Amino acid sequence: MTDVFITVALDTPLDTCFDYRWLEDGSQPRNKPQVGQLALVPFGRREAAGIIVEVKGESDVPADKIKNAIAIREQLPPLSARWLELCRFAADYYQRPLGEVAIPALPKNLRGEKSVSLDRALKKLARLDHAHDPAPADAPRLNDGQQQAVDAIAAAEGFAPTLLYGVTGSGKTEVYLQAASRVLAAAEQQGTQAQILILIPEINLTPQLEGNVRSRFPGVPVATLHSGLAEGERLTNWLAAHLGHARIVLGTRLAIMASLPHLKLIIIDEEHDASYKQQEGLRYSARDLAVWRARQLSIPIVLGSATPSLETWHHAQSGRYRQLELRERASQSAVLPKVRLIDMERDKPGEGLTSTLVGALKLRLERGEQSLLFLNRRGYAPVLACDACGWIGNCPRCTAFMVLHKPEHRMRCHHCSLELRIPRSCPTCGNIDLQPLGRGTQRVEEGLQRVFPQARIMRIDADSTRLKGSAQAAFDSVHRGDVDILIGTQMVAKGHDFRNLTLVGVLNPDTALFSHDYRASERLFAQLMQVAGRAGRAGQKEGGNASEVLIQTRYPTHPLYGAVMAHDYDRFASDLLEERRQAGVPPFMYQALLRAEARELQTALDFLQHAAQCTEHEGIIINDPIPMTVTRVSNVDRAQLLAESPSRPALQAFLKAWMAQLRATKTRARWSLEVDPVDI
Ligand code: ADP
Ligand code: ZN
Ligand code: ZN
Repeated sequence: MTDVFITVALDTPLDTCFDYRWLEDGSQPRNKPQVGQLALVPFGRREAAGIIVEVKGESDVPADKIKNAIAIREQLPPLSARWLELCRFAADYYQRPLGEVAIPALPKNLRGEKSVSLDRALKKLARLDHAHDPAPADAPRLNDGQQQAVDAIAAAEGFAPTLLYGVTGSGKTEVYLQAASRVLAAAEQQGTQAQILILIPEINLTPQLEGNVRSRFPGVPVATLHSGLAEGERLTNWLAAHLGHARIVLGTRLAIMASLPHLKLIIIDEEHDASYKQQEGLRYSARDLAVWRARQLSIPIVLGSATPSLETWHHAQSGRYRQLELRERASQSAVLPKVRLIDMERDKPGEGLTSTLVGALKLRLERGEQSLLFLNRRGYAPVLACDACGWIGNCPRCTAFMVLHKPEHRMRCHHCSLELRIPRSCPTCGNIDLQPLGRGTQRVEEGLQRVFPQARIMRIDADSTRLKGSAQAAFDSVHRGDVDILIGTQMVAKGHDFRNLTLVGVLNPDTALFSHDYRASERLFAQLMQVAGRAGRAGQKEGGNASEVLIQTRYPTHPLYGAVMAHDYDRFASDLLEERRQAGVPPFMYQALLRAEARELQTALDFLQHAAQCTEHEGIIINDPIPMTVTRVSNVDRAQLLAESPSRPALQAFLKAWMAQLRATKTRARWSLEVDPVDI
């Protein structure tokens, strides 16, 4: 009887896969293991789940050293070679071991030490089939722009990346749905199977889209994948995708790693959104991986946005991506809102609100229309200070202020989550009159209640929606019309199709104008266009108010605001691209950021200094190591070093050699590498 050996990828930082012996069990004939199956193996002192990446007749590991695999999950059909290839690409590109990419992409229940039975999940899946079969909801008649877009997407053959550049409210969702419907129908006609992946930026947008999809495609199995799912649900939905059962998969960025054997179309809504970038662990860009996946499978991919990322815009301008445009709003009589700037030097705000904005809110209240106030800062005030001695409430563990949270009676550090009681008096001089400086959503809410005691005001931010389901309940009540004034952070700015909202007020956007991060203006512009896009989506009602956006600013002549007023993304983007070209920054430069952290800043800096000198780097620019802006978080000091090159292959080759050397370096600093960083 010949031995069989398997090579297994495990979730460890060691950049290698591991061999195990798969023993023929004398009494019971066993199936030969297959590549892509999950195996349970001993690893160190524990048992770990891994993915079989090779099956072979011999191993280089000496016979007395090699361990026996414990079990193979035969119930689960193997992950495909295509899927493993995706993981391998991501591992290579982001300079991580394969196992660290592939294993976390699986639902927890499959990779735990304890083996969970698949029976229940599979049974649940079978039940999804027997959903009753209401008639599909009517699709609106597409306008010409939408029709052309749908036709173009449906007719695309092979790898066809398409930018769907459509103003807010132009009906991009409708284009996605009808393109999806055409792809499903075409597959049915050919007697093949099709799956469609739709990525969205916010968990909170899932219910809205899921509702649309389910009512339009009754009977078509739909699965959602996002981090808000309970583990059992996550497993069922993942299986639905993996087994080819789910035809439409909706998800946030993590869904890009789903196993989708019949994938025929990928759609990324709001492709510019920062949430597609994972910001911890494997710091991947779901958008970039999606484009890679579409190329791998030779299928079309649609990137939708009113404010495309400069990367995507650049691809479209240079002809690498096709561009489809929707210039007008879709709903009958809906037009883009009028954007006005309120000069805060002239119209001095009280409670953070200028008299112009208060007047506009009042008008909406009188007419029973809804308003939205956008302030991208949660909490009551960003800092608490003592006028008498100059004391300021710093976090004892971070280079940051403690944010005042008044309703919770707490000071909270937004970096390390430390919570302290609000001091009754100044810890230094005893002054009891401590002053909150600045304004967060809670303080604006409080001010609004004073100005409009009769109004129904709702705040939506990360604090008000901590409990599971509370965000959905809050959004539902806005849609139902139970709210007059909605105040919130970026959570409320994206994607929601509020039908009765005719006023958007933007408080305090100025700080981003002067950020040293060159991406700040791109982000601010997108944010303002997005939030402005929540107003006037349904068209003006008879006798109702024209929709408008009021931006409170101290810099009313700033060109960025000029572009927002003109709804002129094209010019803004073209100018910005030219600036980026001249400055030699992305998308004209490829970057990787090496981060190091340690108890002492010097340890981190020393490691980075060593890294800067440790290998040949012709054609690569290595910048000086610098402490991060928020240097200390949770008593750990952090520093970073930026490596860049105008050539992506050159940077990739360098990173590979560099990582090998750094892994062999002894240091007390913890370090990590991020490829294509967005926050520098
Ligand atoms: P976007 O995603 O481009 O911001 P949506 O897809 O949310 O826009 O569409 C905005 C609104 O217009 C939605 O309420 C949608 O139902 C409606 N809509 C879309 N297409 C049409 C159409 N062809 N005719 C009428 N209404 C439409
Ligand atoms: Zn004091
Ligand atoms: Zn802190």
